[in-house]
Amino acid sequence: MAFPSTRMRRLRASPALRGLVRETELRSDRLALPLFVSETVTGRERIEGMPGVERLSISAAVEEAREAAALGLAAVLLFGIPARKDAEGSGAWDEEGAVQLAIAAIKRALPELLVITDVCLCEYTDHGHCGVLRPGSDVPCVDNDATLELLARTAVSHARAGADIVAPSDMMDGRVGAIRAELDSEGYTEVPIMAYAAKFASTFYGPFRDAADCTPEFGDRRAYQMDPANGHEAVREALLDIEEGADMVMVKPALGYGDVIAAVKLATQMPVAAYNVSGEYAMVKAAAAAGYLDERAAVSEILTSMHRAGADIVISYHAKDAARWLSEDRLSPTT
Ligand SMILES: [Zn+2]
Repeated sequence: MAFPSTRMRRLRASPALRGLVRETELRSDRLALPLFVSETVTGRERIEGMPGVERLSISAAVEEAREAAALGLAAVLLFGIPARKDAEGSGAWDEEGAVQLAIAAIKRALPELLVITDVCLCEYTDHGHCGVLRPGSDVPCVDNDATLELLARTAVSHARAGADIVAPSDMMDGRVGAIRAELDSEGYTEVPIMAYAAKFASTFYGPFRDAADCTPEFGDRRAYQMDPANGHEAVREALLDIEEGADMVMVKPALGYGDVIAAVKLATQMPVAAYNVSGEYAMVKAAAAAGYLDERAAVSEILTSMHRAGADIVISYHAKDAARWLSEDRLSPTT
């Protein structure tokens, strides 16, 4: 039945009616906050291109985590910035590394807050790639199979330190299976894997690379991260990661990838995470600072769209602000 018997505007007439039929609700307990933990920073250090985000010492990371927990956020996602890098990225599985120490410190202070860890080598390798390089080849090439063992070792070191969830982001083939096998053989059968299943080679990672100091020394990551033009391949990646034992799958970036989030959710019926990445954050911050956008409304719309697309969990640098705004909205139900 069409117009005039059907009038879509009937259910948009008041805040109460709109609230009654709203399909997607932002919730702070579905948001995760990324944190950059550094071995060299004392206190906090601001990050160019990401206003409001800082490199943190371990004690500053605990403070951030405390704030995240108080705001009702689901989790923090830890990235490490080591003092020294080498060809293998051995700092990634250092028991005394920034991430390992931060996990223990955060879990001691806030046992209820979930700690997710990024599992990759690029912050730890001197060449900045996500795996080790194949020796002797003329054109530098990341050696997929030789990298798997190192990633698995890294994931185990995180689990040993107390991580609740490990999240491999390297995009090597077979890494989820390798990590699952190593976690299980070391007794960490209950630690879930959140796989960065569909991680695209995106220009929107720019500010993050400065933050974590992991820009590749040569070439780019297109030989392992996905081509932004491919949606069907993203679904295949997710299905393969699930076959290897992933408990959750992620799509990264998120803002231009709503179709991929929706397709992955539909095809897998698994918990799906979306990563609202640094460049997406920086765009909003820059536009808001210039007076071109209302930051609060923009963030709300962006995060809601990611959930609407099918993401159960959204990882975002806006997470603290969003949680704060959400709690304010609850206090004034007329908005
Ligand atoms: Zn990486």
